[in-house]
Amino acid sequence: AYSYDDQNIFAKILRGEMPAMKVYEDDKTFAFMDIMPRGKGHCLVIPKAPARNLLDADPADLAAVAATAQKLAGAAMKAFDADGVTVQQFNEPAGGQVVFHYHVHVIPRFEGVKMNPPGKMAETNVLEEFAEKLRTQLAAN
Ligand code: AMP
Repeated sequence: AYSYDDQNIFAKILRGEMPAMKVYEDDKTFAFMDIMPRGKGHCLVIPKAPARNLLDADPADLAAVAATAQKLAGAAMKAFDADGVTVQQFNEPAGGQVVFHYHVHVIPRFEGVKMNPPGKMAETNVLEEFAEKLRTQLAAN
């Protein structure tokens, strides 16, 4: 069985115990900026329901997260005039997972631009600017 630790950082964000730069929210999902972005406008989509990763998540929550990721991908294409979007999702330490609440990465991509190396914090004001661009685009869609 896969155990869910409700002290993980995304659980704290969902409970409002940790700050996050929110981009979108609905009944089942929450989306916010990744603080160590692999590219301009990199955001994360999570289910509100507890799930460690793909292996234990409720399929209805997976579907809801996919629908939100699709919304964000479309908004990102327009908001940043992106050429493509990379969607990533990691499971268990061997699969590259670091935070143990299911999440999908939505990373806008630009022709000829490689992804940033992992682990580098972005400046808050820059992230906030990108978050605002996404929110504005989502509101216009
Ligand atoms: P992974 O589990 O491999 O998908 O990696 C977790 C992701 O969460 C990484 O891209 C981190 O930059 C990101 N991350 C970690 N803590 C936070 C946080 N407090 N707010 C936003 N993103 C975070």
